[in-house]
Amino acid sequence: MIIVLKPRTTEENIIRVENMIKRHGLDTHTVRGAEMTIIGCIGDTTSVDSKLFEVDTCVDKVMHVQEPYKLANRAFHPEDSVIDVSGVKIGGGHMGVIAGPCSVESFDQVLEIAKAAKASGANLLRGGAFKPRTSPYSFQGLGLEGLDILCKVREEVGLPIVTELMSPDYLDVFEEKVDLIQIGARNMQNFDLLKQLGKVKRPILLKRGLNATYEEWIMSAEYIMASGNENVILCERGIRTFETFTRNTLDLQSIPVLNNKTHLPVVIDPSHAGGKWWLVEPMAKAAVAAGADGLMIEVHNNPECALCDGAQSLKPEKFDALLKQIRQIAEVVGKQI
Ligand code: PEP
Ligand code: MN
Repeated sequence: MIIVLKPRTTEENIIRVENMIKRHGLDTHTVRGAEMTIIGCIGDTTSVDSKLFEVDTCVDKVMHVQEPYKLANRAFHPEDSVIDVSGVKIGGGHMGVIAGPCSVESFDQVLEIAKAAKASGANLLRGGAFKPRTSPYSFQGLGLEGLDILCKVREEVGLPIVTELMSPDYLDVFEEKVDLIQIGARNMQNFDLLKQLGKVKRPILLKRGLNATYEEWIMSAEYIMASGNENVILCERGIRTFETFTRNTLDLQSIPVLNNKTHLPVVIDPSHAGGKWWLVEPMAKAAVAAGADGLMIEVHNNPECALCDGAQSLKPEKFDALLKQIRQIAEVVGKQI
């Protein structure tokens, strides 16, 4: 952090501001110019509220040279993080392929999709048991019954499960039964929930909020990490823009940006981004080419009758054809599924 003082600030005030900075446990390096004075703050400024300095009558402006996140920051952790999801590695050259229906509808439905997805090369099974629906009149998910179905299918097919947690009330049961706990876009800034996730032993898949900036998103990961759980995977699922043709706009630039700013794996969800099944294939391929560490794809055996998100779900045959191409692209960019 650099603090620029107003022109002609007196020596007495320079020393006063320096002392203010030192009271936060920081050191100072002051450059006294003919017209203006600049004070460099040395040390960890992540927990210092710069507004405290901005309001001082002698301060012209405060400039940040360091990001406000530390544990998620690539600068302090140069190697890629590799997250282990019950034996499946994601990050650092290992790709996670998460596939399954938007919501758990029945045991037979999930079983059929899971078997097909696994045969095509998926290494994790998704399925919503608790669904965050825009309308209270839409299907809300099977709840705990849905979670039990996922567990039974895991036993039968052998794929670890990924499912969304919406309420802290179910934190214990999710910690016991779910391999990768998904936090949906709508809860990305539910800070109390994020703090509690810091206490669980399971890795977390943190989806990007509907209109969250990169920094806001990384700060949410930082909440979980600072509370004790460093196993966080970021998931881009499209953001709100002026465009209404697609459900959301997939931000592919998030992949290189996040790879630059953080060491956490980045997974792309092209299904919720485009909202249309035929957009999934090109966007999934582009995501892997751009360096994504994984994909989350909705697959349904009967999309026309799906209780949720049928329009954006791939049929198992289409998913199989897509994965054949994904494998080739992954090889080119030095990743393995
Ligand atoms: C989901 O993956 O089922 C989901 C609801 O996604 P999002 O939170 O990204 O909307
Ligand atoms: Mn969905």
